[in-house]
Amino acid sequence: MTLRVKALESLLVEKGLVDPAALDALVDTYENKVGPRNGAQVVARAWVDPDYKKRLLTDAPRAIAEFGYLGTQGDHMVVIENTPKVHNLVVCTLCSCYPWPVLGLPPVWYKSAPYRSRAVIDPRGVLREFGLELAEDVEVRVWDSTAELRYLVLPERPAGTEKMTEQELASLVTRDSMVGVAKAKSPERSEKA
Ligand code: FE
Repeated sequence: MTLRVKALESLLVEKGLVDPAALDALVDTYENKVGPRNGAQVVARAWVDPDYKKRLLTDAPRAIAEFGYLGTQGDHMVVIENTPKVHNLVVCTLCSCYPWPVLGLPPVWYKSAPYRSRAVIDPRGVLREFGLELAEDVEVRVWDSTAELRYLVLPERPAGTEKMTEQELASLVTRDSMVGVAKAKSPERSEKA
């Protein structure tokens, strides 16, 4: 695979179809600048600022753009809120649609056929395999991301975080919690980690 990509890249550069500097800039963006830390900032802000949270839940692209997180694969985003009674899980059943500006590139499991089918057929089973056991009275909602609309989960703010700063809170927000396969870390757990 790596060799095929390299061969393709050389060919495109040779034919003058792509600029290698532009390719480097793209790779640098997705390796270093864009990633789940962006989404974590957004979530932490929503936890501490009720007005921001309202904006985020009603017009996610605009609220996320307040941080400057813009760009491809993030034009149409919807943020869905986890509550004690509702747990949201995001999948792309068709391929691997994912909100790049806030989460970076999707992990391999997100793109895998078993996740894509089983997240819909047996969401509780999938969550259990991720180590998340939900009580029977918690409703699980599954959201199918598409090229037109990508979902981001607003996880619940963990207990015992009342005195934490926004930056400290952001460190509890994992990629998996924003896809909905995990909860945000609890403060005790993150201290140990
Ligand atoms: Fe997709």
